[in-house]
Amino acid sequence: MVDQEKIRKAVNLLLEGIGEDPGREGLADTPDRVARMYAEIFAGMDGDAGEPLSRVFSADNSEMVLEKDIVFYSMCEHHMMPFYGKVHIAYIPDGRVVGLSKLARTVEIYAGRLQLQERMTGQIADAVMEYLVPRGVMVAVEAEHMCMTMRGVKKPGSRTVSIAARGCFENNPGQQDRFFRMLRM
Ligand code: ZN
Repeated sequence: MVDQEKIRKAVNLLLEGIGEDPGREGLADTPDRVARMYAEIFAGMDGDAGEPLSRVFSADNSEMVLEKDIVFYSMCEHHMMPFYGKVHIAYIPDGRVVGLSKLARTVEIYAGRLQLQERMTGQIADAVMEYLVPRGVMVAVEAEHMCMTMRGVKKPGSRTVSIAARGCFENNPGQQDRFFRMLRM
């Protein structure tokens, strides 16, 4: 659980640190507002991907299932600035499939904490492998990082793409090509 009292204190210090007066009217509720916002943004800290991904049902289908354009918002652990974009998840079932909303819920759990895009990509792939146990899974994440667009190199619109391949997608260019072709459909 997020400790909202600690966050309120920290935001007060932060305001002082940037030369603000935490006592001025417009900022009176800011520490509390930020604390409540952080509780929401970091709700994934308490999440367990085993929960949504255990809701499987059996299916004969062994063709690729692709859930694309799952929108996510996360916070980079280097700057505590937002990065956001889309996650695409494809898997090849081995007798079991999962409701599509459960993949979106899995993304929410891993996005709802301080993250690195590459790590989040791998965590989603590993969770699908562990709980759904498909023949393979491929995850691609494309995101814009506010720490790159608002500060530093200031490259608005630039996107970072990361992928993770597990099981039958690993070291299998043909299978990965199919994934990218389906993404463009
Ligand atoms: Zn960053």
